[in-house]
Amino acid sequence: MATGGGWAPPRLDEFILTERLGSGTYATVYKAYRKKNAREVVAIKCVSKKSLNKVSVENLLTEIEILKSVRHPHIVELKDFQWDGDNIYLIMEYCAGGDLSRFIRTRRILPEKVARIFLQQLACALKFLHDRNISHLDLKPQNILLSSLEKPYLKLADFGFAQHMSPWDEKHVLRGSPLYMAPEMVCNRQYDARVDLWSVGVIFYEALFGRPPFASKSFTELEEKIRSNRAIELPSRPRLSWECRDLLQRLLERDPEKRISFEEFFTHPFVDMEHMPGAESLAKATALVVEAVKKDQQGDSSAALSLYCKALEYFVPALRYETDARRKEAIKSKVNQYVSRAEELKVLIASNNKTLLQQGNPARDILKEMSKDKPRLYAALEVASAAVSKEEEGKDDYETLDLYQQSLGELLLMLAAEPVGRRRELLHAEIQTLMGRAEYLKEQIKMRESQWEAESMGKEVLSDSVWSSCTLQ
Ligand code: ADP
Ligand code: MG
Repeated sequence: MATGGGWAPPRLDEFILTERLGSGTYATVYKAYRKKNAREVVAIKCVSKKSLNKVSVENLLTEIEILKSVRHPHIVELKDFQWDGDNIYLIMEYCAGGDLSRFIRTRRILPEKVARIFLQQLACALKFLHDRNISHLDLKPQNILLSSLEKPYLKLADFGFAQHMSPWDEKHVLRGSPLYMAPEMVCNRQYDARVDLWSVGVIFYEALFGRPPFASKSFTELEEKIRSNRAIELPSRPRLSWECRDLLQRLLERDPEKRISFEEFFTHPFVDMEHMPGAESLAKATALVVEAVKKDQQGDSSAALSLYCKALEYFVPALRYETDARRKEAIKSKVNQYVSRAEELKVLIASNNKTLLQQGNPARDILKEMSKDKPRLYAALEVASAAVSKEEEGKDDYETLDLYQQSLGELLLMLAAEPVGRRRELLHAEIQTLMGRAEYLKEQIKMRESQWEAESMGKEVLSDSVWSSCTLQ
């Protein structure tokens, strides 16, 4: 049998087909060598013509021709295509790292940092496609490949194809995996590009928690979960940053109208495409350092610190981007200098802050007094006080930031409902203060993390074994 699902690989004149790499809903993929140049390894995807419904093969070939012109570092390159009576053959770049599904399974879960780098790369590919009006419609870990295991570099596969293949066949049987399909795709059979955002949510939920949100023991259970209108709940463990949770929650919104939009997704602080390793990272970092030094010379310590921190956020991706070892070292030693200066500034500012924190905040006490009749407001203010005293103790920044964010979430809601008056004024001022503190803490955390990252880069042994097996670029 020479079809995509056959036992023996099909024959192609120019190639030697070897092992089967995998098969999905529509096709079987083989590893192959070009006869003319045996060193060129490719992956050949064989799609049985029988599996194509409604649309003519000619239309599909036109579409493939377009895909051939798509070139992006995070999209599997389609080198060429051929066809015979039974199959269409897509000759693709070979990805030695297998697919993301296997990558997650062998590690059980991915640390937030690793998941984030993958997410950024995926977002990059999706932005490129979105700008060209191409949707994927079948995003799942099996369709996301890795260039290699030593330096996993994500490559989006199997796209632009799904448009021609409805998830429902003529007998109204669902094909593909409903685990990753947006509810509107399964329930209403009416959908658009926004289903891709839902799938991104599911993929990252699975990467972080080790199983997709609708994981079920039976099909009935799965169907119930898809059709229900309960909001998707995120497990409380592992601990994830607030930005990460926020993004997941907004991607996994059942109603496509309320789901995060593409624009919002690309600019979401967790995706943060701005800080992806790129040719401009170093220039941006340097420009910020120039500003920082200026402020530092003017004696404006907190502005200087903030600028050094912002610069560091570009230096880390710049280091990642740089491939030349000597230039990498040069950047590193500069970074070390800036980090030491930032550390000095931090100590300076912290000692000033401490006196401020210790002075207490009479306005907060008055506000609390005035809120005794409103238990929810009072409770939120208590959380804010707890955050402030935690910060004073200088212990766990992450927990303190959590508390700040919790209280701010509540207080902002309360403010919206608060009638004009003295209490509203005080509440407004209090929120501003708390936001300032939370921002400051966030910067501190970011700086520390960037510093760790810069330090660990290039070292032979990294402390975090999971991270070391996933070092990217
Ligand atoms: P389908 O349309 O049938 O889902 P895919 O393009 O998703 O086909 O490929 C099926 C599987 O084959 C993938 O999940 C992956 O494991 C493997 N595969 C596909 N393309 C490649 C490639 N270029 N390099 C390595 N493995 C691949
Ligand atoms: Mg597939």
